[in-house]
This record gives sequence, C-alpha cells and structure tokens, in this order.
Amino acid sequence: MSASLYNEDSLPDLLPIYYKRLFPHTALHKWLCYGDPNVSNRREISFTLVGDIYLRYQSFENAEDFAQALHKRFPVKIDIGAIYKQRLESSGSYSSSKTPVEREIVFDIDMTDYDDVRTCCTGAGVCPKCWKFMVIACKILDGALREDFGFENILWVFSGRRGIHCWVADKKARILDDNQRSAIAEYLTLLRGGLVVRKVKFFNMHAATERALKVIDEYFEKSILVEQDILGTYERLDAFLGNIDEGFSPLFRDAMTKVQTSVERWKAFVNTFQTLQREQKIPKHYRYMVEEMKFYYAYPRLDINVTKSLNHLLKAPFCIHPKSGKVSVPFKPKFIEHFDPDAVPTVSQLLDEINTYDAKTKAQEKDLAENSQTSVKIKDYKKTSLLKYVTIFCEFLRGLQASAARNRAIKNGTVMEY
Ligand SMILES: [Zn+2]
Repeated sequence: MSASLYNEDSLPDLLPIYYKRLFPHTALHKWLCYGDPNVSNRREISFTLVGDIYLRYQSFENAEDFAQALHKRFPVKIDIGAIYKQRLESSGSYSSSKTPVEREIVFDIDMTDYDDVRTCCTGAGVCPKCWKFMVIACKILDGALREDFGFENILWVFSGRRGIHCWVADKKARILDDNQRSAIAEYLTLLRGGLVVRKVKFFNMHAATERALKVIDEYFEKSILVEQDILGTYERLDAFLGNIDEGFSPLFRDAMTKVQTSVERWKAFVNTFQTLQREQKIPKHYRYMVEEMKFYYAYPRLDINVTKSLNHLLKAPFCIHPKSGKVSVPFKPKFIEHFDPDAVPTVSQLLDEINTYDAKTKAQEKDLAENSQTSVKIKDYKKTSLLKYVTIFCEFLRGLQASAARNRAIKNGTVMEY
C-alpha cells in the first residue's frame, strides 16, 4: 500500500493524530501507577519534543492529565523513569533531594552491540538473519528471569527498529535498590558488547549457563554458522582464533584452514579440541572452550548501565520510532520466533487502516441509519493492526492485577503462601 509509506518528515503531522486516536494512554497510565492513585504524581514520565527538547521529571495527576499533556505536546518520545518518594511537580522541576524508590528492572538489548559478530547488516540495519540474535537473547533472559529469580510479570517490547526492551514489573523487582540491580545485571552478563570482556570464561557449568547453552544450540548451526557465516573468511577466522590462547590457536588454525565453510571449520575446531583433550593437552581451565566460543557469538549482550540504576530512563511501549515510523510494540516471548520486525505497523499504516475501516463501514452505517438503527462506535485502535499488541499489553496488566490480588490475600492471611 503506497499510501502507507512512512516519511520521517511527516512525523510532526502524524503524531497528534496518533496520540488522539490510537495511543493507549489509559492502559499505559494504569500500568505506571499499579492501581495506586497516589503513585501517579510521583512517577517520572519524560517527553522528548520535536527539535530535541527534553522535558524531564514530569508527572501527572491522573490518566486524563497524562492524555491532555500528550495531546498538547505530542512527544516524539516518551521515557519512563522511577517512582519517587516525593511528589514530582507537573512543571517538571526537580530538586536533588528527591529520591527514587521504585522502578521496574529493565533490560535494553541493541543490535549494534552485536556488530563485531553479525555479518549480514551493520549499524541501524536489521534483517531476519540478525534478528535471531534478539530471539536467542529474549529466550535466554526470559528463562533466567523466571527460573532463577522467580519473576512472573515481564513485559517484552520491540524498540521500533533494531532492539528489544524488557520490563520486570513484579513488586519484589520494583523495590530493589541499585546494588541489587547491579547484582542481577552482573549475574546475567557474560559479555559486555564484546568490548570490555573479550572472552567468556567458565570455570563451572552453572545450571543457568546450561539452560542458556540449550537455547544457543537450537540456533547455533543454522543462524550463527550458516547465516552469519562467522568463519567464512580469513578475517573472520582470525577474529575467532583471537579468542583462543596464543599457545593453542596455531593447532586450531591448521585444522580449520584445511576446510572452507563455517560449518566445516567449526567441526574442525570441535574435533581438534576433542583430540587435544583426549591427549590431555588441554589445561583444566580451558575445558569449556567450545561452549565459551558459542557464548561469545550468541549470548545476550546487555547494556547493563540501563539495568543497574533505579532511575535510568527507558522508552515507553507504543512510542513511534522516528526513523522507522514503527510502533514500539509489546510481544510475547513465547512467540518471539514468529515475531517479524518488518511486519510491525508504522504510524502511517495504522492511520490508513483507520481510514480504510471507516470507509468500509460508512456505507453500512448509512444503511443502519436509514432503518433507524444506531451503529456501535468502536475504538480506533480496534480498527487497526495495533489491536493485537494492545491486547498483549492488557494481558500483561491482568497478570499484574492477579499478582497484586494474590499478594494482598497472602498479607491478609486469607491464603497460605507456598
Ligand atoms: Zn541482518
């Protein structure tokens, strides 16, 4: 549909309509307050306006107040900050005495952190091949957060272009301080963008590491070896061998250069490793070299500064990415395999969908009116492909409500915690 083509220059004209007709401000506000009206004016919501004007430390009295600000300012970006101990002034003023007290634990995974291992695209580019890095990251992190930490209310969001965000919203997560957040971030970090920690080093295979390895193994051959072709050139082979101790790397190089493809070279690497191990030439601290290499290429690369601090801002779901025009939509981690970033609607597409729907129903409404019947007015987002993403978000809200009800019941002693 050519009319749906998004043009960045038209964003200032599209945003007012998007906020007025489609943006789920009531649901978003409900989440940010966790059903407590006293939280609304303590939760930081910052706006970035056209022309890079930042409005930080804003808060709103209620959902209506929030909606009015959106309709007046139509921000290019909305960021969510912490809940503060004290009320934030709606004017956005801030004094250093204000203390952040609660905040979801957040994770930000950006494709650019994979630039030294992905070979299909660079920079802002993303394709189904490199999207697999996000699939692996989401599956590993979601598994660790649920199984190792017992978190349940986790919202996953596509950033709108080339990354994913994760919000852990359980009460026990929201009240963690900076040190506790750092500990979780460190636990989940084996790689730091390939920059600080070049090598992955295991001394023991922890249960969490084994679980992560299982996920990586599902994708390693097809996505990493074949599609990313990580060993397909001498340059890539050098980068690979650069992760191995200089004392050993020539042994691997000899075997790996005798064959051509990434799959063959990987097999040569594993075979050489196994032979050396049988001959007891591999020191004990290198016994996980094969697994470490898989982690180097496929383990989630987190921007841990985002996770570590209680008052770090993160973009709200349902914002429009200014470059791609795509909506930052929630998705279910269970189905990330089938999530196609290319299929995420742009703001232009959504507005077209409303028009198409309205044109189609106009004739029907005319018929109804002639027969003195009234038509049912439906909300605009329900006329568009945004509906399924709003539905996912509302399911997340229902999960939070159920957890809150359960916690209240435990507190009141009406159910036993088990
Ligand atoms: Zn790609």
